[in-house]
Amino acid sequence: MYAINQIYIDGAFVTPHGQELYDLHNPATGEVNGQVRLADAEDARRAVAAAKRAFPAFSRTSKAERVALLRRLHDAVKARENDILEALVEEYGAPVSRAAWMAGHASSVLADAADVLEHYAFEQQAGRALVRMEPLGVAGMITPWNNDAGFICGKLAAAIAAGCTAVIKPSEMSARQTQVVTEALHEAGLPPGVFNIVTGRGEVVGEAITTHPDVAKVSFTGSTAVGRAILRNASETFKRVTLELGGKSPVVILDDANLREAIPMALQAAYMNSGQACIAGTRILIPASRKAEAEAIARDAAAQIKVGDPRDTETAVGPMVSAKQWERVQHYIRIGQEEGARLLAGGEGLPGSVQRGWFVRPTVFTDVRNDMTIAREEIFGPVASLITYDDEADAIAIANDTPYGLQAYVMSADVPRAERVASQITAGRVLINTLSHEPKAPFGGFKQSGIGRENGRFGLEAFLEPKSILMP
Ligand code: NAD
Repeated sequence: MYAINQIYIDGAFVTPHGQELYDLHNPATGEVNGQVRLADAEDARRAVAAAKRAFPAFSRTSKAERVALLRRLHDAVKARENDILEALVEEYGAPVSRAAWMAGHASSVLADAADVLEHYAFEQQAGRALVRMEPLGVAGMITPWNNDAGFICGKLAAAIAAGCTAVIKPSEMSARQTQVVTEALHEAGLPPGVFNIVTGRGEVVGEAITTHPDVAKVSFTGSTAVGRAILRNASETFKRVTLELGGKSPVVILDDANLREAIPMALQAAYMNSGQACIAGTRILIPASRKAEAEAIARDAAAQIKVGDPRDTETAVGPMVSAKQWERVQHYIRIGQEEGARLLAGGEGLPGSVQRGWFVRPTVFTDVRNDMTIAREEIFGPVASLITYDDEADAIAIANDTPYGLQAYVMSADVPRAERVASQITAGRVLINTLSHEPKAPFGGFKQSGIGRENGRFGLEAFLEPKSILMP
């Protein structure tokens, strides 16, 4: 049993003022395997006060000093990569193949931020004015459980590069990832108060941070519903916001694509991180003229997907993070059938191979119309929908007919054609014939998938404000 009893304020591990004990589970078994003592609003206020005290000195550190700090943070987090991997697998059942990438990502984002900072000019000339980019102040950061370690490190990296100080509220379900990462960050020996980590409930600690007048900036990754509430809170004191929210990403398979390659890749996109990914490609758009062929390949490909023990390197789909999330996914699978979609693979209930834990059968629906609930709402589980289109213009219209705009995928044998299609899709990132990631490119969403961008120069500037200085 894990017992996590401390939070991190002003450079030290301290016992929270909050008293609530929250159960942690192993989702692969459904059993309770630990407890975390949660912070409360008073802890959040103490963390903000520490970050506020640290800001004046930290904001005056030189670029070279902050590059050196980021490199130290990178080394410290890298040294705990195996522990992060272990926490990811145990805490939310991330399949080990996926968790390995995520565990490496937690340290690499710190090195990436150091590289960006090294080449960034904080002063530029604009006409007769000198424009100086200045750090915003205390930044509040709120992260979700699906790669909490990576989000903590990524947001903190950008804040430190900019010269901001931070109060981080990780997901209450990610106490183990947070514990390992906090220990690693502490090892790097930053000045007290530069970062503070207070695990607690969203409506308590998250609310206290996003309404606090001394917080200048909020960087949030999570659901669109919570993002909306945060935007409302932030408006009271005009906090700057970066919101990385949900998605319902289209995978546009053009009529010239090799379906034997494109459909399995589309299912991989739909089921990544067990379907618990904001960028999951869950709406698979196929040409109506090739529907039968696409369905047959999708049925075969779904049957090959291994669901079960997240520690098995062959496993592609692990458990859902919680019983509540499992119920939610079951609910969508029911609604899909009630609204007239047809099950091609999977369905309700546990997969045949497992008797316990919060596992979902990798599910593919066909005969899905884009106005059905399963095509409009983020399910956050391994449920993919095949949607037919008539021609390229129709495919683009369906791809864009969504309140979201985080990511899209285009698959085609003709890359210039795929690029033309990509240019007409309203999404923050479009992947053509690949599922790869580029850490130097801006990441974020159009429409209700968010506001602002993370990573690279854009991510750094999200923690800066320009000041123009004119002289006679
Ligand atoms: P969530 O929105 O329920 O919670 C995210 C965080 O917000 C948690 O730390 C939670 O405690 C906190 N929170 C909850 N209520 C709050 C409030 N009123 N005020 C302040 N904070 C509050 O999301 P989740 O279930 O943890 O994560 C899944 C969601 O995150 C999905 O919608 C997914 O698409 C999204 N997500 C987006 C990205 C992206 O980069 N765009 C990445 C990963 C996940």
